[in-house]
Amino acid sequence: MTTINKTVLSMGEMASGAKLTVPVYSIKGRGEGPSVYIQANMHGAEVQGNAVIYQLLELLKTLPVLGDITLVPYANPVGANHKNGEYTLGRFDPITGVNWNRMYHYNQAQITDFVDHLTNQPQAEIDQQFQQLLVGNIEQKLEHNQYGLTTGQRIAYQLQKMAHQADLVLDLHTGPISSKHLYCPEYAKASASYFDIEHTILIPDGFDGAMDEATFCPWWSLSKQLATKGIAYQLERESFTVELGSQELIDLDVAEQDARSILSYLQYKKVIDTSEFVPSNITRYGCYLKDYKAFYSPMGGMVDYLADFGQVLRAGQPLARILRMDNYGDGDALHYISLDHDVIPILHFASASVNQGTELYKVFSKYFELV
Ligand code: ZN
Repeated sequence: MTTINKTVLSMGEMASGAKLTVPVYSIKGRGEGPSVYIQANMHGAEVQGNAVIYQLLELLKTLPVLGDITLVPYANPVGANHKNGEYTLGRFDPITGVNWNRMYHYNQAQITDFVDHLTNQPQAEIDQQFQQLLVGNIEQKLEHNQYGLTTGQRIAYQLQKMAHQADLVLDLHTGPISSKHLYCPEYAKASASYFDIEHTILIPDGFDGAMDEATFCPWWSLSKQLATKGIAYQLERESFTVELGSQELIDLDVAEQDARSILSYLQYKKVIDTSEFVPSNITRYGCYLKDYKAFYSPMGGMVDYLADFGQVLRAGQPLARILRMDNYGDGDALHYISLDHDVIPILHFASASVNQGTELYKVFSKYFELV
């Protein structure tokens, strides 16, 4: 039986003095495999990841665990509680307007400096020193910054500090109304085949403030800079954003499937010592980030979303139709929307009522089979 430890991390304070806290669950492995950090619910309405963490803990209880695993549900206590009427908002910090998943930290110059001062050392030593640098840098920002931090930065940096201490990072999100999909750094493409997720977006080495990028970009950059110096380096750190379906919903049965899919990846990475988990025999499609396109509504109106997720929508086939009752009788009440090339729709906007310019769908505009 695996022991699960719980601690409560203080993330900040509200105006009344009430503490913002998150629960942190940790499992000590045998010290043999890579360590893992998994968080969920950074965006307030994206709640399925909490159910997946529940199912992961239930399954991990009975599994032989080699590497240390840290799991953080409700990672963003402000976002999770940010309700308006019956809806959860929680995508943007209500004070600054910044997306909660764009506040992590990355310092490219520091990596160049690190590599410049590196002597020829075994990789294990390089890894340890570089990890210390990343963790130390975040600690510095959290604890020794006399001008302070925004509420969002304080939350993000505390999560990032935990994530930097792991070899593998999974940030559990959902789309608005969405099929499952995976954001995967291009170099880790082989790992995408171990998740039971049919659609993978391959992301380049660029930092835009998200958790996955904040934890893989430094290592990717390190490996590239070492290569230019002729130092052999095996890039083993991986981070993914796992999009688990639609917001505002949990489904514990689906969460168990999602947990098994994650355990299939962790088994492949030798974090758990078992052969119980077999990735599904499904066709997986990839799409480069530049080809993962948002389609913005050409008009305001009421949208009837027609295209199915995950299946090829042929050129000219309708993506959606938009109802405009103000035009009924003296104009066109129905407008069909299509594209001039084949796409795979992945997600759509959560509401039927849209303004001109609303992000209606996100689609793979170019795609290929992942092998
Ligand atoms: Zn999200």
